[in-house]
Order: sequence, then C-alpha cells, then structure tokens
Amino acid sequence: MKKISTYDSLKKFNYIYCTISVVLLSTILLFISNTLIAFSTTNELKGKTILIDPGHGGIDGGTSSGNLLEKNINLEASMILKSKLISHGAKVIMTRDKDVSLENLCNDNDYRHRRDLKARVTMINDNKIDIYLSIHVNAVSNAPYVKGPMVFYSNTNENSKSLAEYIQEPLNVAAGVNRNPNIADYFLLTNAKKTGVLVELGFITNINDKNLLQSKEYLSKLSDAIIDGLEKYFKNK
Ligand SMILES: [Zn+2]
Repeated sequence: MKKISTYDSLKKFNYIYCTISVVLLSTILLFISNTLIAFSTTNELKGKTILIDPGHGGIDGGTSSGNLLEKNINLEASMILKSKLISHGAKVIMTRDKDVSLENLCNDNDYRHRRDLKARVTMINDNKIDIYLSIHVNAVSNAPYVKGPMVFYSNTNENSKSLAEYIQEPLNVAAGVNRNPNIADYFLLTNAKKTGVLVELGFITNINDKNLLQSKEYLSKLSDAIIDGLEKYFKNK
C-alpha cells in the first residue's frame, strides 16, 4: 500500500514536471520565433544610411500651381520620410531640412541652379551612404489627367534600376496607378556615384494629386510605400 502511494506521488510529480517543462519550452520557442519574425520583417533598414534630398528650396520654388510651391511639398514629405526611416533604425542625412537653396555650398564658376545641383551631388558622393532619394513633385502642361508617383533612375549605377522598381511598385499601390520606373539623364542622377533614385510624388497639374499632396496623411502613405520598397530592395540585394 505504501509502495503504491509512493509510486502514485512519483507519477504525479512526473506529470507536473512534464507539464511545466512543456509550457516553459513552448514559451521559449514562441519567444524565439516572434523575435525571428520581428527581425526578418522590420530589420532591413537598421543601420543603413539614407540620404534624402528634398528638391529645390529657397529662391528655387520648383514647379507650382497657384500659391502651392513644389519646394514646400518636397520638404514636408522628406521630413515625414526622415522620421519614419529613423523609427525603422536607419540613419538619415538631409541635403536640406529648411527652406534654402544650396548653391552657396559650391564654389564652381557655374550658374546658380547648376551649383545648387552640384552641392547636392557632392553630399551624395562624399558621405558614406547606402541609398539616396531625391524627392520632387511633377508637372506636365496640357495633360491635366496625368497623375501619380513616378520613380526615375540613371543606368550609370547598376543597382539603381532595381531600387527604382522596388519603390515604384508600392507607390503604384498607394496611389492607384500602374507605372514602370523611368530612365532619366538628370544632372543629379547621372553625376551621383551611389545607388539612388529620384521620386516624383505626384503631378501638381492634376487636381486630385494637387489636393492629395497637401495632405499629411497622403504624404505619410507615400513615405510608407517608399520604405516598403527600400526594405524589399535591401532584403533581396
Ligand atoms: Zn523638382
């Protein structure tokens, strides 16, 4: 009788011990898998350095529609993008973070607009960066129906085309358009010796885009799309 009782309590002890072990092990495994998921989905931008170039500024308003100037949309969108990138663990360098043009940073004997662009190119080439993004707003005359974001790249950098494709796709989804990225021979793109793209956020000449580009929520949505594209680029690089 005594023997059976000891056997029973041993069995009970074993049962409790096993249950605790299983629960503990499951908890540990769940923690590890959650950590791995977190790393695989949100860690692509950690430690990366992204240079953001808000186009135009100061004396150079860029394109316009009424009182609405491209330079201000570019800066607002860029500041939103900057804070989102930082919260994803990236480092951010800005060519400008206020309403200024940059020609005074270049001493070349060149005209003002070219010196402004050269200063931006110098910042891209002289800083240790992974990617640069030049942020602009588009305009087209006599085609008010043309709308949506466009990503431009130069084929002087072998990775820029794939970056452009990764960024254009989520921007298409965000804006409800269907575009491919475009090759361009813009001064900034062809003279920058790093991987990067120029993003035109939308068309100031389209009434719908014009309204959307004045909304922080929409600029935030476009920033999320750009970040989505960057993450996919780094993941598949
Ligand atoms: Zn522009």
